[in-house]
Amino acid sequence: MDPARLRAVYEDLHRHPELSFQEHRTAGIAAAWLRECGYEVVEGLGGTGAAGVLRRGDGPVVWLRADMDALPVAEETGLPYASGVDGVSHACGHDMHVTWLMGAAAELASARDWRGTVVAVFQPAEELAKGAQAMVDDGLADRVPRPDIVLGQHVAPLPAGSIGLTPGPMWAASDSLRVTVHGRGGHGSRPETTVDPVVIAAATVLRLQTIVSREVSTAETAVVSVGSVQAGTKHNIIPDTATLLLNVRTYDAKVRDRVLAAIRRIVAAEAAAAGAPRDPVVVLEESTPTLTNDVAAAERTRPALESVAGPGRVFDPGPLPSSEDVQVLATAAGAPITYWLQGGADPALFAGATTREQLMEVAGRIPSNHSPQYHPVPHPTIEAGVASLLAAARAWLS
Ligand code: ZN
Ligand code: ZN
Repeated sequence: MDPARLRAVYEDLHRHPELSFQEHRTAGIAAAWLRECGYEVVEGLGGTGAAGVLRRGDGPVVWLRADMDALPVAEETGLPYASGVDGVSHACGHDMHVTWLMGAAAELASARDWRGTVVAVFQPAEELAKGAQAMVDDGLADRVPRPDIVLGQHVAPLPAGSIGLTPGPMWAASDSLRVTVHGRGGHGSRPETTVDPVVIAAATVLRLQTIVSREVSTAETAVVSVGSVQAGTKHNIIPDTATLLLNVRTYDAKVRDRVLAAIRRIVAAEAAAAGAPRDPVVVLEESTPTLTNDVAAAERTRPALESVAGPGRVFDPGPLPSSEDVQVLATAAGAPITYWLQGGADPALFAGATTREQLMEVAGRIPSNHSPQYHPVPHPTIEAGVASLLAAARAWLS
């Protein structure tokens, strides 16, 4: 694989970011590349998704997954190949994921020393947590061979070339809820004639804080954040309704169920306590399951990753509160998943940092994914990510 060609692909993708479910150009580039490499290609999967299949006789089926979408973030990197689209950029680095998978797909096509089937999955709309489900709903698992393993990697603010691999629960489940509290509006001077949804909302926000502090044990973790509170239009009008937008992060399905039930209970009870004329409405608007690395699969993949990263350069960052919908693909296909973080930051920024704590401390100080300043260094990130994906795939192919 010519490194200059792959670098040009990366810079081109970076210049032309596309929002979730609008990845027409990106998917077209990936599909054309796969065809050129000899893959059978299915396009339009779940909207803008694409998958390429390369068969080399009997053997394991390996899915390699990359997400493609950009974010509504105005880029502030000052890069010569910065986004040419106003207010849209690859601030999460999914252009790097696409480049890695294109590189690995080409390498696998030119190598003759493996048996099995490789499926390159280019997924839309990860940032909405809807793209994986859209591909599943479109019959992905029946339209390409079913996998024995799903592999993928996310670029991260860790030293380029290093790898973060956490066996077991790795990233949190994320649930986003919209709560509409119904009161009875009226004049601000005569509150006794109203049921004030602003007061109900305020009491609800405070009471929601007790879920994590009073109902989740020290051995468990959860986050409940109220990201938006909206009600009313004017100083002296008590409105009819108030709206709360909540985000919940959990690692364990039982904890998740308990936290979501507690939210519904508290929301209903605060409305009842205020004498609300109607029950509040709680809508689960977005939901991403916990990303859980199969422990045996992670142990099988780790030596391959170590062989390319070098001794001591694969570490365990531990569970993080980020979220990803790649688990949806694996669950729907009935296969285990191994997903890891691939460093993309200038290694010089991490001089002297070797332990997990030191690495994570630096990672917390430099621009990270979703920041307008976030950008991986193309070299050696591109080469390292291609090598990781390739080595991991080979650990599963025969
Ligand atoms: Zn993201
Ligand atoms: Zn991402």
